[in-house]
Amino acid sequence: MPIAEPFRNYSCTKAAYTRFFDGVPGDCRMVIEARPEGWWYSADLPGERRVVSCLTDPDLGSELRDPKSWYRVLAATQFIAPLLPQGAREIAASVNSAGTATIDPAAGHRWIAAGDCLFCADPLSSRGIVHALRSGILAAYAASDMINGRGELARIRYAMIASQSFADYIPALAAHYAAAARWDTAFWQRRRPRSEQQAASDTHQENMQRSGFRRSLGKGGTG
Ligand SMILES: Cc1cc2nc3c(=O)[nH]c(=O)nc-3n(C[C@H](O)[C@H](O)[C@H](O)COP(=O)(O)OP(=O)(O)OC[C@H]3O[C@@H](n4cnc5c(N)ncnc54)[C@H](O)[C@@H]3O)c2cc1C
Repeated sequence: MPIAEPFRNYSCTKAAYTRFFDGVPGDCRMVIEARPEGWWYSADLPGERRVVSCLTDPDLGSELRDPKSWYRVLAATQFIAPLLPQGAREIAASVNSAGTATIDPAAGHRWIAAGDCLFCADPLSSRGIVHALRSGILAAYAASDMINGRGELARIRYAMIASQSFADYIPALAAHYAAAARWDTAFWQRRRPRSEQQAASDTHQENMQRSGFRRSLGKGGTG
């Protein structure tokens, strides 16, 4: 039987414009700096290497694909630029998707989405690993129910938990951004908490309806 065609039902795009360097003596520091254009991230890597990344919206950051622009914007940072010493040498560069995305339905006939497949968290939330472990455990219970002939119940229950988890994440993420916002630039305007919370609320309601949660409640149980 073909699996259902899941689709992304919430998407907040963001791109990471990243460069890797060697010749950077290890100091175990991971630093984040909010900037008008978005936020910068840098982490110490094994082998005297360091990663430096600017996260912003793709339409705002397209010029960051150009090394000259990237280094110019980096030079304006207060805490990130000083992490690269004179002898640091760029060894690789990449542009990756780094936004929030989720999937609907969360589970179907003989399949369950977990971890990043269920939802990709904004890196600023620092939720990716905890979410992957938690959803993996819950997916295992759902899989067990499916194997034991309780597939419909497992699907509804899993979708409900996944939806609630995502609904909790969105306002928490908005709070992170609100704590750092001190510019009236396009990037920060787009992250004003109210619109994020509304989006989460809408998504949660839609997911509950799609998962059949209301139907299930009407029959006298959540499963
Ligand atoms: C640079 C970076 C930094 C991050 N930092 C943090 C952080 O500080 N804190 C945090 O919480 N999260 C962080 N994350 C996010 C976190 O790593 C992910 O959210 C988490 O690893 C997702 O776990 P997962 O099991 O869903 O997917 P993954 O960890 O990506 O595991 C999927 C696995 O499936 C394998 N695979 C893929 N396709 C197939 C196939 N067809 N057959 C078999 N195997 C396959 C892959 O090789 C991989 O091993 C970071 C991510 C990146 C990229």
